[in-house]
Amino acid sequence: MTTTTSTPVVAHTREELKAAREALTSRDVAVVMTMGALHDGHAQLIRAARQRHDHVVVTIFLNPLQFGPKEDLSRYPRTFDADMEICREAGVDVIFAPTPDVVYPDGDPGVRVSAGPLGEVLEGASRAGHFDGVLTVVGKLLHLTAARSAYFGQKDAQQLLLIRRMVRDLDFPVDIVSVPTVREADGLAMSSRNTYLTASDREVALCLSRALRAGAEAAPFGPSAVRRAAREVLVEEPLALVDYLVLVHPQTLADVPEWYRGEALLAVAARIGTTRLIDNTPVVVGPGGGAVDVFSDVPHARADV
Ligand code: AMP
Repeated sequence: MTTTTSTPVVAHTREELKAAREALTSRDVAVVMTMGALHDGHAQLIRAARQRHDHVVVTIFLNPLQFGPKEDLSRYPRTFDADMEICREAGVDVIFAPTPDVVYPDGDPGVRVSAGPLGEVLEGASRAGHFDGVLTVVGKLLHLTAARSAYFGQKDAQQLLLIRRMVRDLDFPVDIVSVPTVREADGLAMSSRNTYLTASDREVALCLSRALRAGAEAAPFGPSAVRRAAREVLVEEPLALVDYLVLVHPQTLADVPEWYRGEALLAVAARIGTTRLIDNTPVVVGPGGGAVDVFSDVPHARADV
């Protein structure tokens, strides 16, 4: 493995990406896909990829296809210079930062990847077409970067599951690796959208991670104990408008029944002020159970730095 700390090559066009890609000395290339406004969660993905591969490509692309008409595309933070510095420090070789007309030269694509039923629940229930938009751009960026591995955060658990499904169902020649959620010291899951929060919103937002922790602590006592413990925390915070709080099977996203024992996903979404936040924790339900960073049966990586 080589170590790079020089300034990454920035490619804006397909031609520039191809040239930058061809200049890499090894074919062992990993990609980290982002929408920019990078924080330490993104940096951990990059570091985890950096530790295991010769080269890392980061994509920075605000994908209009995955934003609904009433969502925050226009106000989404754009911080390219700071992003570039984070990429440089984390050892990125190439940044691909295209505009929508580069990714979608013919306008909105008529042909898209369909996320299917798993894309219609949880996040998909309130964000119609969101996951079709995500999978379509992930598919395109996998082709364009020709990466052998792609790193995604457990923070976006449903997205991660759907990307794994797409790669499996459509035989993409790439390994999908997940990285545990990176949190602030007080438990708040890092997110580019946290910059929307006022100081008081941010206090309110802590109820999400608190609820997940409470739920996970109740894991030895079964699914309803998990749900009840998490719900009790959320009802204490009326300023968090909860969209969903669920304990679901990690592969089917179906609510786990009361007899269920084993790995499950405890996930929450809530609107706080003007901001919609999501968070989750993998848990093991049953005797000796509790929170875990990642699910055991899928490839995952931590950055050791
Ligand atoms: P985004 O820029 O929000 O689309 O995120 C790009 C990638 O970073 C996705 O794979 C996310 O799951 C991942 N990511 C975002 N926030 C975190 C976090 N707090 N911890 C770990 N990964 C994250």
